[in-house]
Amino acid sequence: MISRTECLKKELEENDVVMSVGVCWSEKCGDTINKMISEAEEKMYEAKRLYYISESVNMKTEIVNSFDNGRNRTMLHHERFIKTATKLLELNGGRGSCYLLSMDISEFKMVNYHYGISGGNELLKAFEDYLTSLPLQLYYERIFADCFLILHIDRKVRSDEEKLERCKYYEDVFIQSQQKKYPACKLRLCCGVTHIKDNNLVEAIDNANIARREAKREKINVIFSNDKYNEHIRSKQLEKEILEILKEERFTFFLQPQNDMNTGEIIGAEALARGYWPCGKMIYPDVFIPVLEENGAIVELDLLIIRQVCEHLSDRLKQGLPVVKTSINLSRIHAYTHNTAERIHGIVSTYKVPKELLLFELTESVFIEDISGIQRLCKELNNLGYKIAIDDFGAGYAGFNLWNDFSFSQVKLDQQFLIGNPDMMRHKMAIVAGVVQIGKLLDTQVLCEGVEQEEQTGRLIEVGCNYAQGYYFSKPMPQKDFYQYMDNIKKNK
Ligand code: C2E
Ligand code: CA
Ligand code: CA
Repeated sequence: MISRTECLKKELEENDVVMSVGVCWSEKCGDTINKMISEAEEKMYEAKRLYYISESVNMKTEIVNSFDNGRNRTMLHHERFIKTATKLLELNGGRGSCYLLSMDISEFKMVNYHYGISGGNELLKAFEDYLTSLPLQLYYERIFADCFLILHIDRKVRSDEEKLERCKYYEDVFIQSQQKKYPACKLRLCCGVTHIKDNNLVEAIDNANIARREAKREKINVIFSNDKYNEHIRSKQLEKEILEILKEERFTFFLQPQNDMNTGEIIGAEALARGYWPCGKMIYPDVFIPVLEENGAIVELDLLIIRQVCEHLSDRLKQGLPVVKTSINLSRIHAYTHNTAERIHGIVSTYKVPKELLLFELTESVFIEDISGIQRLCKELNNLGYKIAIDDFGAGYAGFNLWNDFSFSQVKLDQQFLIGNPDMMRHKMAIVAGVVQIGKLLDTQVLCEGVEQEEQTGRLIEVGCNYAQGYYFSKPMPQKDFYQYMDNIKKNK
């Protein structure tokens, strides 16, 4: 199995072609070819996420390989599309508007997650039926998974706005017909549109795919432009560099203290990831987190930080040095993956770190986005004896009823509670007081983040919120500096 994968990897490197490859084995996934294709597709996505096999800026093709039946489905569809579309374009002879749409179903993995592979397949079938039923001059091919290429030959010359309007129309009619069958998911089509220049379909497909990816990010259909192409190249280059940094583990964590404002004691620390460019300059989360969340590799970064924190705590414990409870951020992406809790437990067990020394932070917005995935993750972590904090509480619209479904050890109030005019502050502090009361009743520690000024500490203490984290106390620091800071606090007491 390894040798065939290795072989393919070599072939890819030699030919300077980049593919994300998913491989499945008939012994493992049973009898039907459909099952094998689904499994291979799933693996291909995984490969794409982790760049397991290979990745480069010039990604031209994404291929699903099912070696056991020896044919390459995606390549087949891709080639067939190019062949047929080229013929149609030649026949049309440059009349009207010819444009290419690259479409996929946004969050299709959530449809599979909630309704199973068969539910997902039904939705794809419905989309194909819908495309077939459209009375326009339209040719389409499903390339792989939920990705479709659609050639549109319109008799009239259309402006970009008209093309986008058409996409929106297709989308609205289809979604209206399907949404009620999939109440757990908010269905949406992502559509990238491009004009086809000189009948060059290979270039047009690349461009439509670039536009589709942006459509996914921006949640609005997108027309390709040269600016978008340049931006795409820039972001691919950045992604490549950040993945390199991750592969080489040039990441570490800083520690930011969490303080008890009444006693002055340090009650814990938050581990915040920092990366290093090859030149040694630091790279901050606002640059690498969005990139790693988009391609899914954040899962690996989080696990790396967990390993580093565990190694660090275990070293200190072995040397008899003081330690504090350390909070670690878990990305929203873990709600969509299946083995996070198990992997965390594996790492913590290896380093024999007491579970009470760790706290896992999950941001509030993920509880709004995907309740079932996050419920599963929290339950698994809780069952294994790990504690959970809700981060950025109050930044969005998560309600108090979250406490019905989840058990939190800590609530981290978002910095927005500290910002506003005096009238707003009166309202906000009333809410903080309420959260502190709930926290007391449910045995949940309430801590406020982003405390920068002395007067903010006074306001918080007044409403019973005694725990805080923020620049007023300290910025995140390298590990050594953090313990120095802790020592100084102890000495000054
Ligand atoms: P966060 O989890 O809300 O972390 C707090 C962020 O606020 C940190 O930014 C911290 O430096 C900053 N901060 C702390 N005190 C103050 C203050 O008084 N005022 C202001 N304005 N900011 C303050 P940082 O380190 O740049 O991290 C940004 C975000 O990146 C984090 O927000 C977290 O969402 C994410 N992040 C950081 N490390 C990791 C990680 O290892 N894994 C994951 N998944 N996310 C991480
Ligand atoms: Ca956090
Ligand atoms: Ca936060």
